[in-house]
Amino acid sequence: MENFDIIVIGTGFASSFFLHGYLPRASEKTRILVLERGKDDSHSWQLQHKTISSTPSVIVNATPAKRWPHYIGFGGTSRAWVGCTPRMMPNDLQLKSKYGVGVDWPISYDELEQYYTEAEIVMAVSGPNDGSPFPRSQPYPQPPHRFNGPDKLLKQAYPDLYFQQPVARARVATNNRPLCCASGVCTLCPTDAKFTVQNEMTYLYQDPRINLKLAAEVLAVETEGGQATGVRYMQNGVEQVAKADLVVLGANAIFNPYLLQRSNLTHPLLGKRLHEQVSQYVSIDLDGVDNFQGSTMITGNGYMLYDGPHRSKHAACIIENFNIPLSTLRVERGKWRQRCYMKFIFEDLPSADNYVTENETSPNMPKIVHPGHSTYAQRGLDTLPAILPKILAPLPVEDINFLHINNTEGHIQGTTIMGNNPAESIVDKNLIHHKVRNLMVLGSSVFPTCSPANPTLTLSALALLAAARL
Ligand SMILES: Cc1cc2nc3c(=O)[nH]c(=O)nc-3n(C[C@H](O)[C@H](O)[C@H](O)COP(=O)(O)OP(=O)(O)OC[C@H]3O[C@@H](n4cnc5c(N)ncnc54)[C@H](O)[C@@H]3O)c2cc1C
Ligand code: SF4
Repeated sequence: MENFDIIVIGTGFASSFFLHGYLPRASEKTRILVLERGKDDSHSWQLQHKTISSTPSVIVNATPAKRWPHYIGFGGTSRAWVGCTPRMMPNDLQLKSKYGVGVDWPISYDELEQYYTEAEIVMAVSGPNDGSPFPRSQPYPQPPHRFNGPDKLLKQAYPDLYFQQPVARARVATNNRPLCCASGVCTLCPTDAKFTVQNEMTYLYQDPRINLKLAAEVLAVETEGGQATGVRYMQNGVEQVAKADLVVLGANAIFNPYLLQRSNLTHPLLGKRLHEQVSQYVSIDLDGVDNFQGSTMITGNGYMLYDGPHRSKHAACIIENFNIPLSTLRVERGKWRQRCYMKFIFEDLPSADNYVTENETSPNMPKIVHPGHSTYAQRGLDTLPAILPKILAPLPVEDINFLHINNTEGHIQGTTIMGNNPAESIVDKNLIHHKVRNLMVLGSSVFPTCSPANPTLTLSALALLAAARL
């Protein structure tokens, strides 16, 4: 049987940012086993096969109207993400004390700030250099992307509430990535311009202290006397056990709770409060303003409907302005670029009715049950028809068309939540399991609430914080 200091499960953002933070602090003799369920399908393999991964993820979706996309393989879902990296706002972490809804996070924005900065440096994030919606200690590592025509008008009207979207889609080429050319098919970027674990963090796994095993699926965390002793995993059809002093779970918000459930680490909230943002696409016809001159897929973030007292009644919203014609250009002569596509993304309040659980009929697959989003999020969506004409008044609007409610943002959150009270949370503020003190759980599964903002920069910052506090 093999013995290690640490076993890390998964190679997505959570595990990779943990290793990035931990390796410089570890001794030369440290031995780390990383177990990754999928393979290392290269970017060129993905392009050639027009697919993200050669290893399908098997889940049972009991409410298939709601999708939960994620990818198995070296680099995890970083292969497919789109690279939008706004931070959360300070009040996102204090919803209960500020607005009387949801719960507070056990850590503050100030505690996270230095790790946000570090994560942005690793991802070479491009962001605004003329102010910021959230406090920052340092400028963004890369200059902002170029606005399009509608962005410029909104920036003029809302100088403190409208900004270039912070993104990990290169504005300036890095050593490993060319600059983004706004082709807008970022899930499988043809030029590899967006940050992925595969293109920027592979060096971690070449460290002599790390033993990476691919196609190695962890089945359960082994425990004895309230301590984790290692993991049971399957490779090449053979079940094996590896021992370690610390087990770090970075398998995402579906598989983190599922693995804990399979390890009999029960808790009334384990797997519960699965949630994500809910969003509305809107197309806006303009009179005399051309669009699509920006330099990346989404160029603007609006904060006009984000933080404020309305959050005690309904959900906050972040606005994304697209720089690509999401469905169609206009057909009228001379006006084909005079259309804007925006997405209005609302936070949701987690509910115990939405959950990940073990599946009686297929024990090797987690089951996901998600009857729907909260009335809090719905009330936010319901405000849009009345408020949009006012918010969009700085644009020469001809027509506003509500398109579809987005089926998923790809943001899976909240199934092993963090908190100070062990009765109401699975891990503590350092992401250590309340009962099994040598078991760490990383990723957006620890989010007690979501914000309208995309989660991955925050979960990466949290992994750096957890590594630093270990
Ligand atoms: C299409 C799409 C677009 C997105 N765009 C954005 C965006 O613009 N901005 C943003 O913030 N977020 C975005 N996201 C969300 C983002 O991808 C996730 O938040 C992020 O990948 C989660 O990171 P993670 O490391 O926790 O999990 P993952 O990246 O899912 O990694 C989990 C890892 O664990 C491995 N694993 C799972 N089970 C086991 C097991 N039993 N044994 C061993 N290994 C295992 C997996 O193979 C994988 O390597 C997007 C998601 C999708 C699908
Ligand atoms: S906009 Fe194009 S180049 Fe930029 S990250 Fe997306 S797919 Fe890649």
